[in-house]
Amino acid sequence: MAVKTRAKTSSKKAPKSSSGLPIKIRPGKMLIDGKWVNSVSGKTLETINPATGKVLTNIAQGGRRDVDLAVKAARKAFESGPWPEMDARDRGRILAKAAGLIEANLEELAMLETLDNGKPIRETRAVDVPYTADTFFYYAGWADKIHGETIPVRGNMFNYTLREPVGVVAQIIPWNFPLMMASWKLGPALACGNTVVLKPSKFTTLTCLRLGELLMEAGLPKGVLNIVTGPGETVGDALAKHRDTDKIAFTGETSTGRSIVRDSAETLKRVSLELGGKSPNIVFADADIEEAIKGAVTGIFFNQGEVCCAGSRLFVERKIHDQFMDRLVEYASKMRVGDPLNPRTEMGALVSKAQFDKVTGYIEAGKEEGAEMRCGGEVKGTNGYFVRPTVFDNVKNNMKIAREEIFGPVVATIPFRNIDEAIKWGNQTPYGLAAAVWTKDIKKAHAAAARLRAGTVWINTFNAFDSGSPFGGYKQSGYGREQGIHSLESYTQIKSVWVNLG
Ligand code: NAD
Repeated sequence: MAVKTRAKTSSKKAPKSSSGLPIKIRPGKMLIDGKWVNSVSGKTLETINPATGKVLTNIAQGGRRDVDLAVKAARKAFESGPWPEMDARDRGRILAKAAGLIEANLEELAMLETLDNGKPIRETRAVDVPYTADTFFYYAGWADKIHGETIPVRGNMFNYTLREPVGVVAQIIPWNFPLMMASWKLGPALACGNTVVLKPSKFTTLTCLRLGELLMEAGLPKGVLNIVTGPGETVGDALAKHRDTDKIAFTGETSTGRSIVRDSAETLKRVSLELGGKSPNIVFADADIEEAIKGAVTGIFFNQGEVCCAGSRLFVERKIHDQFMDRLVEYASKMRVGDPLNPRTEMGALVSKAQFDKVTGYIEAGKEEGAEMRCGGEVKGTNGYFVRPTVFDNVKNNMKIAREEIFGPVVATIPFRNIDEAIKWGNQTPYGLAAAVWTKDIKKAHAAAARLRAGTVWINTFNAFDSGSPFGGYKQSGYGREQGIHSLESYTQIKSVWVNLG
């Protein structure tokens, strides 16, 4: 992922403690009204290290009553707490301080994320944690620049607008980038003066809880951020249906997004959705082939392929197909898969047994449908959930592995003849999150960018991100945009004020 940030990263090996883990991991409590609490029921859930299959710790298993308490605290903090009334610049200072604390705790956060999620430490050090800090810095800067406008209306009237926070916001996030997804949601919501109930995925809560501690340390007043941990079917469902949340911001599977829209309909709360993808990565014969191969590799194998915008459908022009595929398979086969704590590891473990089963099930489906598996498959003889970089060739766009989101390190390669074929097939999906094109022909590149129906198009690069640039989906990849100024729009509402000057 091409994200440039200022945080320093290290390549040092993780030291081991007596538990065999490089850091001490505490049981996870929930943050409600400024206090760290167990669930009302007292129930807990085990959280697993996917690289070993061993229990890392227990986390609180929240339920409806915990959600009620969290929403109540957020409502109180919004209606009568200091947050929305605070000078916007001071809100920004708290977010900037939190960003600094994230950078100061980079090593601990990177370890936690790697242990909880299975992704390589080289990525959590270089991408996940620095990008999280960067997003808080970015939105800290926005806090005092969110304002209305004066409008020249007819008559002796003065008309102006106020851009106000939406209120109590429920934020539900997935497990693939726990810290980053939290920052994409919390940064803008808090900068705008909202209060929040955050629900991380039950698979990856630990860094979100630590982030909550750092935000409190930075000076966030109690009740402004509440974190409820637990399953989506109870905690997420209760948030989506809750009568006292004003907005729900969701990132996750398209099918879950649909159920959230249905659940939220009764209260007509605002909804923004960042959903799944099946992004086309199109390589034309006139591309810089070595660059395109590297782009295809990071496009699908970064973060074990557990990336919403992964270049999971690779379209390669027939003229270069054989040569391109030989080199791609060579690259993929050489990738270092294994212990995510080893700084040399390039691909770690999938997040859970369920995800491992899903991904290996798709690999079987690909073989059964007649696609040619050139390399990859599951890693045998380990308790962790490892799958090697898997390349399928000569895939048809209507095969299951080309239609459905696998969310793992599996690429479906589809040869094409010309730009029309590539664009037509590239767009032949209900998703529209991202796309990429590789060519040295500038006209062709821009023509393709215009014709691809996706919220992001990369030209001669893949996975380029910045806190300032909008990200979101066309079609069934969701609605609303995160990052940049665009996210502020979804966390504010506009009031028009009229003054009679006559
Ligand atoms: P998921 O939909 O299973 O879960 C996402 C979150 O929703 C979790 O916190 C989960 O507990 C909760 N949830 C589950 N059922 C719910 C329900 N009925 N009501 C309310 N909440 C519920 O997704 P996942 O497996 O955690 O993440 C992978 C998915 O996320 C992929 O489809 C991926 O493409 C998508 N994703 C999208 C983006 C984006 O920006 N578009 C970014 C990252 C991931």
